[in-house]
Formats: sequence, C-alpha cells, structure tokens
Amino acid sequence: MEALFGGSFDPVHVGHLVAAETVGDALGATIRFLPAREQPLKRAARVAHGASPEQRAEMLQLAVAGNPRLAVERIELTLPTPSYTVRTLRALAQREPGNRFTLLLGADAAAELAAWFEVDALPQLADVVVFARPGAPLPRHPAISRIVEVPALDVSATMIRERVRHARSIRYLVPDAVRDYIAARGLYRK
Ligand code: ATP
Repeated sequence: MEALFGGSFDPVHVGHLVAAETVGDALGATIRFLPAREQPLKRAARVAHGASPEQRAEMLQLAVAGNPRLAVERIELTLPTPSYTVRTLRALAQREPGNRFTLLLGADAAAELAAWFEVDALPQLADVVVFARPGAPLPRHPAISRIVEVPALDVSATMIRERVRHARSIRYLVPDAVRDYIAARGLYRK
C-alpha cells in the first residue's frame, strides 16, 4: 500500500516524521511525502522568506534517506498552482494506472476537507486515512475511511522557522541533515 502525505514541509520536522513512520507501520504502507508547490488553504498566511518548493523537497529527501518506508513524491512541483489534492491524485492516476492511493491527513487538515477543491471526487481517487493524537477530537467526513493514533509531538514548522529566526537551536526538532541544510543556506533567518 502506498500512502501520500501532503503539506508544505517548510521545513519537515520530527512531528511529520514520527506521524509518517507510525502510520506506515500501522498500515504496512510506504509513505510518500508530497510537498505542495503552493498550499491553497495557506495562501493568506503564506510565509514570507520561506524555503522554495525545491528546497522543501530537498530537505524531505534528506529526512527520509535510509528509511525504506518513507519517500518523496515531487509531482506537485511540476503541476499548476495552487496544489489541489484532487488534481494531484488525477495526475498520479494517469502516471501510475492501477495504483490505488491512500491519502494521509492530520486531524487539522482533515477538519478542512469540506472546503477542498472538488472534494466530492476524492473517494473515487483515494482512501483517506486520518492520523490524530490520542484523545484529540476526530473530524468527520464521508471520505475518511480510517483513523490511526500517533504520538503527539508539539512541534510545528512555524515554531522551527521562528526558532531559526531568533538564532535558537532546532537540534532534535529536525533531522541533523535538515538542520545542516537550513544553516548552510541561511534559510528562515529573516
Ligand atoms: P506550519 O507551522 O508552517 O503551518 P506544519 O508544521 O503544520 O506547518 P505542514 O507542512 O502544514 O506543517 O504539515 C503537513 C501536515 O502535517 C499538517 O496538515 C498536519 O496534519 C501534520 N503535522 C504538522 N505538525 C505535526 C505534528 N507535530 N505532529 C503530527 N502531525 C503534524
């Protein structure tokens, strides 16, 4: 089974990685991180001086290296913006006919499902699996087929960017290779 985990990943952090590993283990699935070129529901709050789509994909590649369960899917980098998931799934179905995908969503993302572009087409294109911290309120939507509990890690990409901006350590909050990449390119400093 192949599951897609979409997001900005600006940058990828341990919260994303632990969730992906836990769900991959629970489902016996390979998880492909799907960095968005531009996230439709984040446009208003678009981060100034964030990393480029290519840089976000490179950081993901560094983060998954050596883990056979995790991979990076770059297809949205070549598709028109904004990165609508339904459009992405159609493009993947064309590229990989016969491959049934699972879409992995955090509870926060799943709560926004009703606002998605052409969400009614989603169930034909993929099974939706939601991961949530134990005890968290669970979103309801007809497209959701399964919920998996993952350990809660109170980390966000916003927090990582803020820490870098204030010259605070991000060690252990992101993989070492990602931390080195951010430092070498001077990302998120301003
Ligand atoms: P930002 O702070 O920039 O909004 P983020 O850390 O929430 O970013 P996204 O790139 O939006 O990261 O993450 C994609 C998805 O990963 C989110 O929709 C959310 O479901 C999930 N996610 C983010 N942080 C965590 C975390 N700490 N634990 C589990 N899942 C997370």
